[in-house]
Amino acid sequence: MADDCLFCKIVAGEIPSTTVLDRDDVYAFRDIAPAAPVHVLIVPKRHIADVRDLVPGDGDVVIEMFDAANEIAASEGIADGGYRVLFNVGRDAGQTVFHLHMHLVGGKPLGGVGPG
Ligand code: AMP
Ligand code: ZN
Repeated sequence: MADDCLFCKIVAGEIPSTTVLDRDDVYAFRDIAPAAPVHVLIVPKRHIADVRDLVPGDGDVVIEMFDAANEIAASEGIADGGYRVLFNVGRDAGQTVFHLHMHLVGGKPLGGVGPG
């Protein structure tokens, strides 16, 4: 667990969240400020700061995040209609929490590139 990392604290249960999926290595919870009817954050339980820190050895947890997204999309009823998954990376993308997280956004027609 990284010091002062919001999502490490959420994974540890020190800060409350609304659980969507809880697996051995991946946790998913509802975004506190949803950009669409469905807005879920999917994170590795192990601290990784962002996409720039990924290495080939992280492959298993990354595919687990995508697999979780597919399962959540199905359980949220948006798999057929479609949805968006995205990672913000760094300052220019507006990343605010430096613990790797995939945004899963959907439940309405989405515009161009962006969260909602
Ligand atoms: P990003 O801008 O990609 O770093 O995304 C961070 C996301 O975390 C934003 O969409 C926030 O709304 C969300 N967020 C911040 N604090 C919390 C929290 N305590 N619980 C759930 N989502 C949060
Ligand atoms: Zn963390």
